[in-house]
Amino acid sequence: MKKVSIVISAYNEEGNVAELHKELDKELKNVKNVTFEIIFVDDGSKDGTLKAVEKLQRKDKRVKIVQLKRNFGHEIAMTAGMDYAKGDAVIFMDADLQHPPVYIPRMIKAWQDGAEIVVTKRVDNVATSKFYKFCAKSFYWVLNMLSDTKIPASMPDFRLIDRKYVDFLKGFNEQDRLFRGLLSWIMPNDKVVVIDFVAPERFSGKTKYNFVKSLQLAINSITQFSVRPLHLATYLGIAGGALSMLLAVYVVIERYVRHNPTPGYATIVAAVGLIGAVQLVTLGIIGEYIGKIHMEVKKRPLYLADYIEAKDKEEKTKEKK
Ligand code: UDP
Ligand code: MG
Repeated sequence: MKKVSIVISAYNEEGNVAELHKELDKELKNVKNVTFEIIFVDDGSKDGTLKAVEKLQRKDKRVKIVQLKRNFGHEIAMTAGMDYAKGDAVIFMDADLQHPPVYIPRMIKAWQDGAEIVVTKRVDNVATSKFYKFCAKSFYWVLNMLSDTKIPASMPDFRLIDRKYVDFLKGFNEQDRLFRGLLSWIMPNDKVVVIDFVAPERFSGKTKYNFVKSLQLAINSITQFSVRPLHLATYLGIAGGALSMLLAVYVVIERYVRHNPTPGYATIVAAVGLIGAVQLVTLGIIGEYIGKIHMEVKKRPLYLADYIEAKDKEEKTKEKK
């Protein structure tokens, strides 16, 4: 019989995990001829999330726990869950019920009918404001303009991936990772099924993505999939050089042809300001990339985790290279 792993990343979700498990249990009963494991990845939660999932494990042996030793972030949490998953397919979902379990039987059906990747498309998200949606849309526009790997907007981390592609994904060892980007990179053209859904409000608690975290994610997404911003320095340099030459020609003509010397003070201040700003921006961009190289070359383990299974209460500490 085929097995499906459900990977749920949870950071401070004590108010959500029991309700999610209840809904999951209800839905999974409708799926025949498949066994399940439900992997909760506790991403270093500071609240009672771990206790809550341990309680679930005591009554449901399908529950496995990957306990990360500190908060490593959502992308790494999903990676850790994927590493421990043993299923023939892996379903990724959030812990806050914004990825409704009711779609899971449909995802599995599509997989059983031959789909290798089942993605969901969020046709609406009732929890986000118009302004946030506008920012997200603009961000994906910029990202896709800059990057060769096209990442569709409104494609959340709620998806099913066949073992074949899970193994491909496990081959990516970069520290800085954006799952939806990696998935676009490997995605087959056929055998992908898209399921539309409307994301409800979180069941309990608050979003973990504040403005700074979202901005950092946006910058990371661009630097991971594109080096085009680095070309900006070259283009700005060429444009700045051309402007300076024009200005020089103008000043010479004013001075020697029209005998009308221009006072240099204002021009110099403007030029120095402009050049200074351009240099800072380009140095910042180069710095972002050098920072990434610095972090990647160390090849540190992606995370440190304990794996807790119900059966034999076995705990293993695993480091992933
Ligand atoms: N999450 C995580 N580690 C983090 C931040 C978030 O595992 O450092 C989990 C979180 O518990 C949730 C999912 O990632 O299950 C998505 O986070 P959230 O709901 O805060 O994001 P939003 O839906 O608001 O974009
Ligand atoms: Mg959420």
